[in-house]
Amino acid sequence: MATEVGAGGERKRGVDVAIIGGGIIGLSLAWRLAARGCSVCVLEREEIGSGTSSVAAGMLAPVSEVESSEQGRRALALALRSAALWEGFAQELEAAAEASIGHSQAGTLMVARDEDEARELERQLELRSALGLRASRLLPSEARALEPALAPVIRLALELPGDHSVDPPAVLAALRSACERAGVQLRCRSEAVGLEQRSDQGAERTRVLAGVRLAGGELVAAERVVIAAGAWSGALGLLPEQVAVPVRPVRGELLWLRDPSGSAPLRRSIRAGRVYLVPRSDGRVIVGASMEERGFERSPRAGTVYELLRAAYELVPATYELRFERVLVGFRPGTPDNLPLLGESALQRLYLATGHFRNGVLLAALSARLLCAMICGEALDAADAQLLASCDPKRFAAGAAGPGS
Ligand SMILES: Cc1cc2nc3c(=O)[nH]c(=O)nc-3n(C[C@H](O)[C@H](O)[C@H](O)COP(=O)(O)OP(=O)(O)OC[C@H]3O[C@@H](n4cnc5c(N)ncnc54)[C@H](O)[C@@H]3O)c2cc1C
Repeated sequence: MATEVGAGGERKRGVDVAIIGGGIIGLSLAWRLAARGCSVCVLEREEIGSGTSSVAAGMLAPVSEVESSEQGRRALALALRSAALWEGFAQELEAAAEASIGHSQAGTLMVARDEDEARELERQLELRSALGLRASRLLPSEARALEPALAPVIRLALELPGDHSVDPPAVLAALRSACERAGVQLRCRSEAVGLEQRSDQGAERTRVLAGVRLAGGELVAAERVVIAAGAWSGALGLLPEQVAVPVRPVRGELLWLRDPSGSAPLRRSIRAGRVYLVPRSDGRVIVGASMEERGFERSPRAGTVYELLRAAYELVPATYELRFERVLVGFRPGTPDNLPLLGESALQRLYLATGHFRNGVLLAALSARLLCAMICGEALDAADAQLLASCDPKRFAAGAAGPGS
């Protein structure tokens, strides 16, 4: 499928697909496309895997994240399908990279710390039961039997056995290795600054996509281009007018704590209100996360760190003794309806794979599958086709009937 492209006097051998952005979304897609025999180039402005994906807590948590709105139901359908794909995705990735990605299937506990939270948790249980999701009610003593490090103040807990986790830096390292082994060109410090179009040789003499212009002037010739630039996708400055990418950064701070003994005080992920703790097998405990509309502000704030540490201590007092290792700041790619943008844009052969908001790690497996099928012209079954349609990027184009139509 590779093509010869001439533009501005240059003649270069092009790739089938150029992907702008080397995060979990871009790399997962690149790996899947290469497995189908496509030639693929990933263009990353900084280092491969250095964006928001490296900050994520790594929860694969469709059931914890459920919301009762209509949009919430659509998001749930995507999340459940991707969670189901993750098991195979994780196994294949570990085999391809010959490395572990820290896939924990110990499950999640949602806990209530006072009467108000307990009432809210009962409501959350009803919602999950009504949706047919796996969640069971635990007395405080039952929760503490499962996780002895939980604080004695716990009033109620829900066990969500299907909500798992992975270690994002390990996933990114494995994807990088799997991509390299599959022949994907991974180009770091390659900032995309423009899209090149050329005249089609056909009778209608239309303009077609020819590739990506990099800062520095080089043209990367490509048959198709995918925007997978996460929270930066909406501000790339290279998109033609007819392509709407309403993606904004939703800032989040997250902490790494570590038990120097090498074993975390928890097995399961723990969630209460807006705070969560995710244990890793190497003794780390990830504590997250804030949600802030502050643009691309990179400096961590003392108040946020304080709030996260206090909430973590109230849930699991043993966190007091852990080593404080790191504060990370990341930018979730938010969209107006909290659903991703997946599919071909209003410009032919320009695809979007962005806007994954709070669930980009979870949705990576499904996004790669759906977009890979679309690009390769493979048929999807009716259920997957419907999921893909719910993410159609053209829903935000001027004159579109609107999300969910
Ligand atoms: C605190 C926090 C916790 C989170 N926890 C979870 C979680 O537990 N589970 C979950 O599923 N999700 C979680 N998320 C969300 C998840 O991290 C994101 O949805 C996901 O990482 C998005 O992946 P991406 O590949 O689209 O973006 P990124 O990983 O940001 O990758 C985009 C890449 O594009 C590059 N780029 C930008 N512009 C250009 C350009 N012009 N040229 C070339 N390259 C460019 C960037 O440098 C970046 O590397 C969390 C997010 C945050 C902030």
